[in-house]
Order: sequence, then structure tokens, then C-alpha cells
Amino acid sequence: MAERVIPLVDQRLTALRAMLPERSIPATGLLADTRGRPLRDLRISVTDRCNFRCSYCMPKEVFDKDYQYLPHASLLSFEEITRVARQFLAHGVHKIRLTGGEPLLRKNLEILVSQLAQLRTVDGTPPELTLTTNGSLLARKARALKEAGLQRVTVSLDGLDDAVFRRMNDVDFPVAEVLEGIAAAREAGLGPVKVNMVVKRGTNDHEILTMARHFRGSGIVLRFIEYMDVGATNGWRMDEVMPSAEVRARIASEFPLVPLDPAAPGETAQRWGYADGAGEVGFISSVTQAFCGDCNRARLSTEGKLYLCLFAANGYDLRALVRGGASDEELASAIGHIWQGRDDHYSELRGTLAADTGTGARRVEMSYIGG
Ligand code: SAM
Ligand code: SF4
Ligand code: SF4
Repeated sequence: MAERVIPLVDQRLTALRAMLPERSIPATGLLADTRGRPLRDLRISVTDRCNFRCSYCMPKEVFDKDYQYLPHASLLSFEEITRVARQFLAHGVHKIRLTGGEPLLRKNLEILVSQLAQLRTVDGTPPELTLTTNGSLLARKARALKEAGLQRVTVSLDGLDDAVFRRMNDVDFPVAEVLEGIAAAREAGLGPVKVNMVVKRGTNDHEILTMARHFRGSGIVLRFIEYMDVGATNGWRMDEVMPSAEVRARIASEFPLVPLDPAAPGETAQRWGYADGAGEVGFISSVTQAFCGDCNRARLSTEGKLYLCLFAANGYDLRALVRGGASDEELASAIGHIWQGRDDHYSELRGTLAADTGTGARRVEMSYIGG
């Protein structure tokens, strides 16, 4: 494995300047990018640290004991995050997802949740507030997060076989504790809980049916994610990607499936229902079926850079504006300006020269901007 790991190019050291446009762009909730895509979903990374070392995300060989995480002063404070998020909501965001690194490692995260829960969308409704976690600390934190106003959680879980799971997280973390976290989240009312499984051919594809059997009929929505070429450190290879169509066929061989309508526009997962009514499964096919056409997601990195695509090489430095004394109107204008110029559609270009010259090995790491 180690020889396939590509050295990390530190994209954290570069940033694009977030410019103030000459004419202000007021937040009307009607913003659209160059491809007519609105801004609806904001993913906020609250830490670049993680207690797991999933090889597809933070391989141990790179994220070792000498790896320099961001110093605390670089991170946006909860107040700064909330202030920036308010401007995103004014531009039309309806859903906020907290992510990382491992978001539950950020101290007092429930305080941030309670601040974000006070915000309102352009429709006057509270934003949908969710969190993606590896589940390791969920049993301890589920209740406090719910009380603070978190609505749902998505838990990442790559298998049920303890040995496979310990190998995949690469820190010998037992699967039983993640299952306890999922149970605690349900008990606390953080449902419907979703479980995300990244499928890597030859590593955990034999767990697909075990996972389907375990979660069907439970009210938990299991979703299969194609292993993606995010970042530059995981040594990604196409032959380790198992296309969703193949995963779906494997499940359907035991449990017939019927297609379901998307729950919301721009949704990443294709939904399928068990024909016998035992719930649904989702497939996130970022590699084999690009869904850039209605991608309405913006990503805010741990230290306040705005990324317009998961595969972007650079982000726009909103923190410089926040800490440089910009007013709320100026902040909203800058965000509007950046989104209006957005043309990103990496997954549609994957494998072409345009994709390679566009980002290539300079791509930002997933653990830094979140999933
Ligand atoms: N630590 C949290 C977790 O694992 O849920 C949140 C951050 S993690 C970067 C967000 C999601 O990205 C997880 O579901 C993870 O499995 C997924 N992910 C990370 N690297 C990936 C890759 N190379 N391909 C597909 N999904 C990936
Ligand atoms: Fe950590 Fe999540 Fe990345 Fe795994 S996928 S290393 S849990 S940030
Ligand atoms: Fe959105 Fe970029 Fe993913 Fe396309 S590749 S769906 S633009 S994040």
C-alpha cells in the first residue's frame, strides 16, 4: 500500500482572494452560478483532525505523528462560522452539514450547533442542520447535540466485520462502538439516521450484503459511496472503484429493488426501495454518474476558505474578509460574486485532459474541506 501513496501538496498554504465586487450583490436568495445552479447546501468543516486513518481519506503514511494540523488560531471561531453561515442562508442555503475531519473532535461543538439553529433561511424557516461523523464519539454526544438543535446525523461505516472495520479505520477501532453511537443517535431523536459505506473493491465489497441485511427494515438508510479520487494522498485507482450499478445488482440478487423518486433537487444519492417494503438504500455514484448538473453545494474549510467543488485546488479566503473588518453586506456581496463566477463540474470532466490540468495532484484533501 505505502508505495502507492502520493506525497501531499499542501493546498492549505494557498488561497484565492475573496474580492469585493464593484457593485454590491445583495442577498436575495436567488443566486445562480454560470451554469444556473443555485446555492442551497453549505458544508462546514469544523476541524481538520481525525481519530481515524481511513486509507482512502487520511492515510497513515501521510497523516503521521509529524503532520502539522492547523493551529487553533487559524480556525474560524463559532461566532465567525455563524456569521458567515448567516450570509450563506441569505443567499438561499437551506441545509447546513457539519463535517471535518471528525467534527465531534471539535470541543463544545454543541455550542456551534445551538448558534446555527437560531439562524433562518430566506423563507423564515430554521435551516436543516445535520452532521457527518465516524460515530466513534456519538454515543457520548448524541443527546447534547439533539438538545442544541441538531436534526439528523449521517454515520460513516465501511463494514460490520470487526476485523475489516478495524483495518479500514487503521486505528483498530471496534465496530461495536460505532453501532452504539448509531443506537444512541436514534434514541436521542437524531433520525432518520443515514449510514454511509465507501466501497473499495477488494477491501470491503464482501461486506455489501452483510450491511444490507443488517440495516434493511431498521429505519436506517444505508448508502453506498463510490470510492472517489478526492485529494492527492490516497493513491486512488479506478480498478478499486466498484460502480454503484454493480453494488445495486449484488443487493438486488438477494433483495429485489425498485427505483424511488429523489427526495430533493440536487440530492447526491439515487434512492432505491426494497420491493418488500423493508425501507430504502441509496447510491452515491460520483465516479460513474456525475451529478454536477444540479450541484448546489458550497464548502467552507476549517479556516474559512470557500470551496466551490470537492475537487477544487483552491478556496476563497473568507476569513481574511471576516477578520479584516468587512461588513455583513460586504461579506454577502463577496460570497455572491464568487458563486456567480462558479463553473466547477469536475466529475463531468473526470479522466479528460481538462480535469487533469485543472486540478490533478493539487486537489485539496477531503479531511480538510469535509465530505
Ligand atoms: N469524519 C467524518 C466521517 O468519516 O463521517 C466526516 C468527514 S469524512 C471526510 C466525510 C465522508 O467522506 C465520509 O462518509 C467518508 O467515508 C467520505 N470519504 C472520505 N474519503 C473518501 C473517498 N476517497 N471516496 C469516497 N468517500 C470518501
Ligand atoms: Fe476521518 Fe472521516 Fe476521513 Fe475516515 S473519512 S479518516 S473518519 S475524516
Ligand atoms: Fe459538485 Fe464538484 Fe462534485 Fe461536480 S464534482 S458534483 S461540481 S462537488
